[in-house]
Amino acid sequence: MNIILLGPPGAGKGTQARRLEEERGMSQLSTGDMLRAARSSGTEMGKRVAEVMDRGELVTDEIVIGLIEERLDADGTAGFIFDGFPRTLAQADALAALLEKKGESLDAVIEMQVDDDALIQRITARSTCANCGEVYNDQTKPIPEDGKCANCGSTEFTRRADDNEESLKQRLLEYYKKTSPLIGYYHAKGQLTRVDGLGEIDAVAAEIKKVLDA
Ligand code: AMP
Repeated sequence: MNIILLGPPGAGKGTQARRLEEERGMSQLSTGDMLRAARSSGTEMGKRVAEVMDRGELVTDEIVIGLIEERLDADGTAGFIFDGFPRTLAQADALAALLEKKGESLDAVIEMQVDDDALIQRITARSTCANCGEVYNDQTKPIPEDGKCANCGSTEFTRRADDNEESLKQRLLEYYKKTSPLIGYYHAKGQLTRVDGLGEIDAVAAEIKKVLDA
């Protein structure tokens, strides 16, 4: 089963993708994580995209499509969860072609709906375990009192360079301008289901489960 989690920055795509990995043996493919890994390992591509990411703009279709193509050959997975990809219609077309080449299809597109005020709150309060990527929120899911990640025990946490109000404004503009047309696109193809992304993590996960089990 291959699915896309679609939604603005801070909608909870990464959190739900990690859960689906644990519960269903699927593989999360997050282009944001791949780009951050490229940045921190100092590759040429990483250096090229760093400023674009910090400004909250989209990196080129060519780069992210290349990243996804490299990862689609992984075996032994119960399917892929595309998280933060596709973000443009060109990326959506490229994904369809790549899946077709593998003899696979897209089974569902889940749009996670969250209003902009909640996104700003979530993003400016967000931190991530530097070791395993578990996501915390100062208000709704604080780092445990012993200062250790509940998932892996690491004591190092980071805040993303682009998780500030100015970058977020640009990321939202990019979302509404370039990514939200995908909602109509997948709706027209009969593949889109909307879930309310504003609830507790467990409640959102239950809604997603319902869609995937249907
Ligand atoms: P994310 O972790 O998904 O919020 O992505 C962080 C940043 O990486 C975005 O603001 C973009 O600069 C870049 N990025 C991630 N995925 C894509 C994509 N599919 N297309 C273009 N840029 C992307």
